[in-house]
Amino acid sequence: MPEIHTLVLGDYQVNCYIVSPQGGSHCCLIDPGYEAPVIVKKLNDLGLTLDAIVLTHGHFDHVGAVKDIAQLTGCRVYVNPLEKTLPPQLTAGPLCFTNALQDGMTFTEAALTFTALHTPGHTPGSMCLLTQGVLFAGDTLFAGSCGRTDFPGGNARDMLSSLQRLSALPGETWVLPGHGESTTIAEEKRNNPYMRQGFPGEYL
Ligand SMILES: [Zn+2]
Repeated sequence: MPEIHTLVLGDYQVNCYIVSPQGGSHCCLIDPGYEAPVIVKKLNDLGLTLDAIVLTHGHFDHVGAVKDIAQLTGCRVYVNPLEKTLPPQLTAGPLCFTNALQDGMTFTEAALTFTALHTPGHTPGSMCLLTQGVLFAGDTLFAGSCGRTDFPGGNARDMLSSLQRLSALPGETWVLPGHGESTTIAEEKRNNPYMRQGFPGEYL
């Protein structure tokens, strides 16, 4: 397991994760949504050098601090370019990024190798990132729930396929969502109604 520090930021209580290898001095940030100074201070306190920001999707509550942190640190920024199709009011202006995430790609940052899974439904370019048995699930999978599909670019059918895909991961996979508590794939297969039964017909 990597070492993970969680900051819960902003009005939408978004989970921003600082991820580093055990004992490592470099890190990645998942979804820095707000409060760049708070995040940068935490990185300094931990003595970690930021190599990359990895975004699960383009919504403003996940990307709000990207520009400031990227300018300050010169880190790389990964996102699925499909998120550029979201209306600008949902992304808080143009998305700034350096690297495109694509389904199935692997990449190494801060000595952690990530596998990117395209899991559309909440947004067209939503991604889940897997590293060392930990899944950063963004707003695709929550403990007991899943992300909304009624925003522009959302799609309930896609969400169902994405949840199905995630349910094929090993049960012990640790799930760290964009909001709320952590969980495991096994726990969600047992108790998450969206993963178990899908959506009622009228939503599809
Ligand atoms: Zn979202």
